[in-house]
Amino acid sequence: MSEPGRRPLMAGNWKMHKTTGQARDLASALVAGAKDDRVEVMIAPPFTALATVAGVLAGSPVQLGAQNLYPAPEGAYTGEVSPAMLVDLGVSYAILGHSERRQIFGESDEFIRQKVAAALEAGLKPVLCVGETLDQRRAGETTAVVEGQLHNCLKGLEAGSAGSLTIAYEPVWAIGTGQTATAAQAEEVHRFIRTWLAGRFDNGLANSVRILYGGSVKADNVRELMSEPDIDGALVGGASLDARSFLAIVGYKG
Ligand code: PEP
Repeated sequence: MSEPGRRPLMAGNWKMHKTTGQARDLASALVAGAKDDRVEVMIAPPFTALATVAGVLAGSPVQLGAQNLYPAPEGAYTGEVSPAMLVDLGVSYAILGHSERRQIFGESDEFIRQKVAAALEAGLKPVLCVGETLDQRRAGETTAVVEGQLHNCLKGLEAGSAGSLTIAYEPVWAIGTGQTATAAQAEEVHRFIRTWLAGRFDNGLANSVRILYGGSVKADNVRELMSEPDIDGALVGGASLDARSFLAIVGYKG
């Protein structure tokens, strides 16, 4: 179980799903169903649905997240969205460094570092995703890979800003595959991340930062994952696209 000071966060990454009408329906069902204030809920719709979902979430405790941003205040960046534009819509979280962005769009740790810095500068709370591929795990490189990503993506970050970070450990081999890390496998990496944060910043900060697990989280495995001391919530893809399955995850304390 997460430390008492760390309120669990259940975050839904809708990826490239939902038209505005579908997004409105799903967000409305979540607002109606997410009544347990012991758990914080965040949803990250596609950019095209952010304004619609912001309207639905207004006055509710459900937080709005973005799935990406471009690390510049404005300019000639065709197709991109700035942190200020997201803040303007009522977005409070930004998922950064997701493995799909790294793998499909070739995002480097350095580019993700710029995004984390830009998000913080604009007052957004970054959810920084890290995690190893199956080959890297098989080669025994899991902690080295995660450490490298943390080191590079948080380079230059002051402890004062790091307080609004969330880290998501997402083993690439568990994303969208139905293959979840065991609670023990996830906890081992979460503990490693927390220890790394304590060394990079300090114990107080390491104990306050939430570390989410992501990778095929479902209603039937969330409780076991959440029973581990360093797992403070989940970043959920597929199971966040349906109100019943996401609410079952949100309501794991039930
Ligand atoms: C994700 O995309 O961050 C994710 C964890 O997806 P899924 O839950 O579908 O594995």
